[in-house]
Amino acid sequence: MRPDSVTHMFRRLNEASGLPPIRHHDLRHGAASRENFGLGLSAMSRQHMPAETGLVRAFVNTLDLRVFTRHGEPHEQLDALDTPAALTRWLHGQDLIADADHADLADFRLAHTLRAALRAAVGEAGDVSPSSRPLQWPACVTIQPGGPPALMPTGFGVEAGLGRIAVAAAGAVADGTWLRLKMCDAPDCRWIFYDRSKPGRARWCEPALCGNRMKTRAYRERRREAGSNPR
Ligand SMILES: [Zn+2]
Repeated sequence: MRPDSVTHMFRRLNEASGLPPIRHHDLRHGAASRENFGLGLSAMSRQHMPAETGLVRAFVNTLDLRVFTRHGEPHEQLDALDTPAALTRWLHGQDLIADADHADLADFRLAHTLRAALRAAVGEAGDVSPSSRPLQWPACVTIQPGGPPALMPTGFGVEAGLGRIAVAAAGAVADGTWLRLKMCDAPDCRWIFYDRSKPGRARWCEPALCGNRMKTRAYRERRREAGSNPR
């Protein structure tokens, strides 16, 4: 093992978790400050995104509609699920299907329908009109002795893999974290983020990026309007 292997592994885990960048080294300081400020677990858990909610967020963000320019580089729109093969790769990467499972065209359409419905549920004014019929995804409640009843996806293969995302979304509603999944208010962003702010009223995926850009734009517009309407 190389000396920096742990650092690299930690960085990968950090990125996969969807948390803001954390240095492995800083973890002990974080634990120490939490102790010092007397923050209990309940205060921390509000800002914590459960893995299942993270799965929903990762799925809806496979459609990346960001088009703003950052550091002079325009962001390009990207659909990470643009072919059945790409969908298979993504589902394998998330461990939602077995190695032998591969998405066909029907699975591909189903994935896009589910994604559009979930994005619309978060508030995306995309191609799902509010008047269209709600998507009904089959799932079943499994009750076993000695354990809590659980909502499980039905079907096999890719359909069941996608079903796990639908079930995770219902789980996010049940644990109250669904309300923290929000679409960035910036029309040139529309990234779906997890609102970790204490009051839960964040509007932008990154205040320093999208928030500042929107505020600067609004300021320029106000100035332009003031300039065109001299008193
Ligand atoms: Zn944004």
